[in-house]
Amino acid sequence: MNTFQYHLTDHLKLAKDIFVSNENARFLSGGMTLLPSMKHGLIQPDHLIDVSKIPDLQVLNETSDHLMIGAAVKHDQVANHPIVQSAIPGLAYLASQIGDPQVRARGTIGGSIANNDPSADYPAGALALKAVMVTDRRDIAAEDFFTGFYSTALEEGEILSQIKFAKPMKSAYAKFKQAASGYALAGVFIAVYPDQEIRVAVTGVGAGVFRWTEAEQAFLNPKMKPSIERDDLISDLHAPSAYRVNMAQVLFKQASKQIQNN
Ligand SMILES: Cc1cc2nc3c(=O)[nH]c(=O)nc-3n(C[C@H](O)[C@H](O)[C@H](O)COP(=O)(O)OP(=O)(O)OC[C@H]3O[C@@H](n4cnc5c(N)ncnc54)[C@H](O)[C@@H]3O)c2cc1C
Repeated sequence: MNTFQYHLTDHLKLAKDIFVSNENARFLSGGMTLLPSMKHGLIQPDHLIDVSKIPDLQVLNETSDHLMIGAAVKHDQVANHPIVQSAIPGLAYLASQIGDPQVRARGTIGGSIANNDPSADYPAGALALKAVMVTDRRDIAAEDFFTGFYSTALEEGEILSQIKFAKPMKSAYAKFKQAASGYALAGVFIAVYPDQEIRVAVTGVGAGVFRWTEAEQAFLNPKMKPSIERDDLISDLHAPSAYRVNMAQVLFKQASKQIQNN
């Protein structure tokens, strides 16, 4: 790993200033993705700006309609926090299924969402739960935020500070894990809102998270078997695309059953 300078600040403005005044800088949160990428020589930043101690990024609170989670809140905290467990149990469960205890103790929701790994869990929750990503510059709806393979709408130097979820009436997440890492070979999040608004989002199957509209219709019409027709399906040494699609169909049934039984 190359040498780099580490900057720690608990001020959002200072973090931005440090980014602007240093070339080749990256924000660091839990380091669970960034540090392995540096160790493998995939990226070599000269400056790491640790944003995990900034108070704005550590909030976790709710209103009658929304749940706000700071970007630096760790997976473990999301999984076990009573507000998340009562407001959106499907999201608490999703967080409990990420990686292993060590990864959940350090990795953060903001780092995961900013990274947008095609097999990560949070993007499915964010898209199904009508999340809005609040940055130091603007609010970005999940539909506009996740723009493809490891890509988001975040601009150079833009800091994700909070994620604002719309509270559903019911929610459920079902995931089939890749045995070594725990990442999703397929993961399906279902959120049910008033007026029979159903949102289904899928991770691990395409080059990025996507809404599965056929499944949204099938939720209210159980005789339908939703299919996935896309030209960006993932096929790799872990599983071919047909397997992932089939798993998504199975997981959709599991998550639907869970919602109907609750
Ligand atoms: C062994 C292992 C197993 C894993 N299993 C899973 C799994 O099952 N499911 C899953 O979803 N994930 C899994 N992960 C990934 C894990 O969830 C990471 O925590 C996550 O991808 C990144 O979060 P982080 O806080 O560690 O971010 P970091 O590694 O610190 O940063 C990741 C990226 O986001 C950027 N960034 C971080 N914070 C911000 C911010 N506030 N604003 C703007 N940019 C920011 C960084 O610059 C960097 O580019 C696994 C990781 C490991 C090592």
